[in-house]
Amino acid sequence: MTVKNEKSDDGKRNEGDASKEAVTADNASNNGLWGSDMYPERKGAKQKRSWFNLLIGAAGRESIDKVKCEENVYRCIKDSPIVKLMVGALKSSGCEIDMRRHISCEVCNPLVTGGYDSELNQVVICQNMAHSENIVRGVLLHEMIHMFDYCRNKLDMKNIDHLACTEIRAANIGHCSFISSMLQGDSSFINIKATHQNCVKHKAKMSVMAVHTVSEEVANAAIERVFTKCYNDLEPIGRRIRRNSDDMPRAYAEAHLYGYNC
Ligand SMILES: [Zn+2]
Repeated sequence: MTVKNEKSDDGKRNEGDASKEAVTADNASNNGLWGSDMYPERKGAKQKRSWFNLLIGAAGRESIDKVKCEENVYRCIKDSPIVKLMVGALKSSGCEIDMRRHISCEVCNPLVTGGYDSELNQVVICQNMAHSENIVRGVLLHEMIHMFDYCRNKLDMKNIDHLACTEIRAANIGHCSFISSMLQGDSSFINIKATHQNCVKHKAKMSVMAVHTVSEEVANAAIERVFTKCYNDLEPIGRRIRRNSDDMPRAYAEAHLYGYNC
């Protein structure tokens, strides 16, 4: 799950509130994962239309968002080196992606920007939250790591250690790798390493807590149990980067475009 970047645009919500609200949202429906309120369209619910929405001109917004979101997905799959890497890795692992079947733009709870539905093997891009191509690219990379883990390791999202592992990998290969690349030059190697590991642990914790209704302690414990193994597992990006060393610097160079606050 890609949890909305805590320090991004609205600035009204601090990290603590975001995690609390995410967990509360799961509590409210009391059945975790895809039964939660994070992805209402997964349950077949249509977004409520009200006279108020009509008056403020928000009605009809969903279809505009959807078209924009699908255009952004298409552009990322066609042009982004790192997304193309993931598509290639999935294909060579026997899990070829059909954009229309495996990627879905939907309206989500505003606390999340994306998700991976292992039951349907589908990546969800939150069309109401991921407005730019750069955010869509970040979400695609993150969720495709989950898809890759599901394809390769029969990931069980209901097992908290499995979930912690794939969230560690997604944070490590995605969001946090761009942050560490930006720190280079003004920090020592030791500092970069510590900052990077903290970034991965924090991001993974936020995602685990948004998917499972667990306390921070339980989430942290799961992350610590699997951290070393999963942090050092850079498949498929690590292996591929060594083979084609141009891709990662290019991805790093684009990092400021990804819509993350670093
Ligand atoms: Zn995730």
